[in-house]
Amino acid sequence: MKKTAIKALFAVLAGALILFGLLPVQKASAAYDYYTKSTKNYNGVTYQKFWAQDATLSSLANDSMYLWNSSNNTGIVTNMNLQNTTNRLSSIMDFVRTNVDFGQYVAARTFNDGKADAAAFESNWGCSEIRCPPYFSQIPYHYQRAVIAHEIGHGLGLMHNNDWGKDGSIMYDRPGSGSIIGPQARDMKGVRYLYGGY
Ligand SMILES: [Zn+2]
Repeated sequence: MKKTAIKALFAVLAGALILFGLLPVQKASAAYDYYTKSTKNYNGVTYQKFWAQDATLSSLANDSMYLWNSSNNTGIVTNMNLQNTTNRLSSIMDFVRTNVDFGQYVAARTFNDGKADAAAFESNWGCSEIRCPPYFSQIPYHYQRAVIAHEIGHGLGLMHNNDWGKDGSIMYDRPGSGSIIGPQARDMKGVRYLYGGY
């Protein structure tokens, strides 16, 4: 492993730990595989749009959203279908750059109707904004994929889920530390619980 890659991996781990310290978690009463406060985007996720600020974020968001839309071959069928749009006004999930540093090694943060992290889950929201600080562009592509997929989970209403290890859920609090880059069965069950499916 290259020295820069090791440095980046450590940075992602450290950043996620910082975020995790801020987030209380609650287990949903309806299931035991995921964490949510049962609040969600009130627009739903069926035939909705997402928007990205630049070509690089658009490509990353496309790749990650495809995995969520297709259930990533987990066999868990949901009503989720979010497609890219060039019209930000029609988007319920935006991917943007920010010059604001969220703290050392924090790769990205999700704001639901302007509220960050746990506060965003106290009530339903209409739009998520996934903000990527300068540090985001410094981590390897593989980790960027995992981070974006993880933040999409927050934008959907999922909270951190560490009970099954780093490869058991994309909502593990250190996205990119495992081998997965997309949602797992537990994550799709959370989407199905919030937005429907079978
Ligand atoms: Zn997170």
